[in-house]
Formats: sequence, C-alpha cells, structure tokens
Amino acid sequence: MTATPMTTAIDVLNVTRQFGTHRALDRVSLDVRAGELLALLGPSGSGKTTLLRIIAGLDTPDSGRVLFGGEDALSRKVPERRVGFVFQHYALFRHMTVFENVAFGLRVRPRGQRLARGEITRRVEELLHLVQLDWLADRYPTQLSGGQRQRVALARALAIEPSVLLLDEPFGALDAKVRKELRRWLRNLHETVRVTSVFVTHDQEEALELADRVVVMAEGRIEQVGPPAEVYAAPATEFVHEFLGDTNRLACRVEGGRVLLADGTCLGRVEAASGDAVAYVRPHDITLHPAGDGTGIVRHAQLAGPLARLIVEIGPVSIDVAIAADAAVMLGLQRGDRVAIGARAGMVFPLPAARGAPLMPVGRALSLAFARAT
Ligand code: ADP
Ligand code: MG
Repeated sequence: MTATPMTTAIDVLNVTRQFGTHRALDRVSLDVRAGELLALLGPSGSGKTTLLRIIAGLDTPDSGRVLFGGEDALSRKVPERRVGFVFQHYALFRHMTVFENVAFGLRVRPRGQRLARGEITRRVEELLHLVQLDWLADRYPTQLSGGQRQRVALARALAIEPSVLLLDEPFGALDAKVRKELRRWLRNLHETVRVTSVFVTHDQEEALELADRVVVMAEGRIEQVGPPAEVYAAPATEFVHEFLGDTNRLACRVEGGRVLLADGTCLGRVEAASGDAVAYVRPHDITLHPAGDGTGIVRHAQLAGPLARLIVEIGPVSIDVAIAADAAVMLGLQRGDRVAIGARAGMVFPLPAARGAPLMPVGRALSLAFARAT
C-alpha cells in the first residue's frame, strides 16, 4: 500500500452532550495528535461511544466544537470528514466476497473521484495484503473467523484513505487469545499506516499495550490523559489508579509521615500532613516476610503459576498480595503463618477523598520511602 501518511489532528473543545437529564459528555476537551493512536478507556456508560460518534459526525454535541486539522468539522457532513469506522459488530455485507466488501467504499464514490477499475483491484489487493488476508479474497463473511472478519472490516475502513480511523471496541466480541493477537497486529499495522486513530475500549490492558496515549474517562468526563506508563505510574485520581489494575484500598492515618493502618501497622512513609487518608497499594507492591511478631496472618495461599497470590489479614483488613512463586516457596509461606508487611510503592490520598483531589505523594521518591518502612 502506498504508505502516504494520513495525518489529521483532531481537536475536541468543551463538548457537552445531554440525553434527557443525563449528561453523557460534560465539557470534554481533548486533542488527538496527527498520526497517533489514542485509546479512550473507561467503564461502560462513561461516554466513550458518544464521543466517538460526535467525532465521526454521527451525532452532534449540544455545545462545544470539533476541529479536523484546525477547521470546523461539525458543519461538514459525514462523508466529507473522511472517517473510517470499525465497530464491535461491524456487519460486513453478507452477500459480497471479502474482496467486494473492501472494494465497496471505492466503487460508491462519486464519478469524478472514482478510481479506474484496475486501480481499484490493485488497491484492494494491497489492502488485503496489508491485513494479511490476500488468500481469503474470494470467501464470504460467514466463512471467516471473528478475527478475520474484523480485519476485513479494517481493510474496508482503510480503503477510502480516511483522514481519521475510529474503532469502537473492535475486538470486544472475540475471545481473549484472539484479542491479544489482534491487538499486537493492529499496533504493527498502525506503525505502517500512520492514520490518526481513536480506539475505544473498556479493557485497560488493551489500552495500555496498544495506545500512544490513553484517555481515561468516567461519567462523561476525562480523568486523565497521558502515555500508558504515565497514567499507570502516576494516576491523577483514585479512579484512575483503581481502574488501571488490581489494587488494595486501605483506610489509614498519616502521622508524622508514617502511613498507619488502624491497628498501628506501618505501611511506609510519605511526605504529607497528618490526617486520615486512603492508601492504594497494588498486590505486587506489597512486601512481606515471615515474622513471629508480624501483624499479618496468611489466610490463603495460591501457589500455582508464576505468581503466588496470598490473602493476608491484619485484624479486619484483608490484603491481596502477589509475589513471585519461587520467592513464596523460598520463604516457606503457608496458611496461618504470621508475616510482617509493608509497601514498596503506593499512593496516598487525603480524606475526604474528593473526586479529582490532588494526591499527596507521587512518583519514585515516594516508592523508596515506602520501602524503608519501620
Ligand atoms: P460507553 O461507550 O462509554 O459505554 P456511551 O457513550 O454509549 O458509553 O453512553 C454514555 C451514557 O449515555 C450512557 O449512560 C448511555 O446510556 C447514555 N446514552 C448514550 N446514547 C444515548 C441515547 N441515544 N439516548 C439516551 N441515552 C444515551
Ligand atoms: Mg460504547
């Protein structure tokens, strides 16, 4: 395929969309950089599809603006926006072969813009080669696997040389293994065809692995935008931390820089004013070792697989711990053992934990302090 970069930047400015009394999007502003692959990540109902439909021109905001390449897009009709779509259940035309499905968008162009017959054939062949389906050109959609169908849908979306590619949970209906394969495949494809792409998903792993930048959404608002490593390591809000992976949410108190559970167990240190707080520590960031005077008791130990999963109880508080299985074996950990626990990293939010409240400590300096808990 002629790898012409199709790179249009998109600006979403202060967009609000109300359905009855429900505000699906609440003053959302977002820039999609030319040629990047941006993931919209959030739970079901957070407004991802609504935002995508507004970018596409399939829906209109109540207020706010959308710009394509710096120019107003809301006044442009859908075809003029040159948007390629792939949806979760993207119905291919059942009565058309794979080849004809991909050719469709090229054949229905207005006469003046239509390519010559041979040119269309060449282009479809290139696209099928790009999505690695040349050998299936003559099949019908019902003769394909789910993953193959989505690849045809993608080739069809790319056929019109879109300025923007929009994908709404395109792998949502596929099983976990195929999803993972397609995720890598799409990432590689995007390296080749650098079309500006917005990818909607509720799967944090998918977003973190695939995207150049991730937009975390909740209840019609953007919680945080950043590269995957950044939103994961330095979440701006409690919501972002909780949504991006397993975690322990622990009620605690900060006293003289020490983070204390209710029974006095010290999780670590932070540079923060004293007061009630909530500490979030991911299972793999909990440290533990057997100790006769430890405050924790191992209630459950699951040692199958590369990671040992433990549940440690400290009084009424139950803590999930993940450590390397061989480490667990070396420590000889068993149900009923007493252990001392700490945290090598974590986040502490002061109470009241208002939505979007600034968190006190962030980043690696804090992690060190946490590791040297006393
Ligand atoms: P997501 O894609 O993140 O799951 P949506 O954008 O589909 O979320 O929906 C956001 C909210 O807006 C949901 O509460 C949904 O029920 C509501 N909503 C979406 N579209 C409509 C509509 N056409 N009419 C009424 N409510 C809608
Ligand atoms: Mg949706």
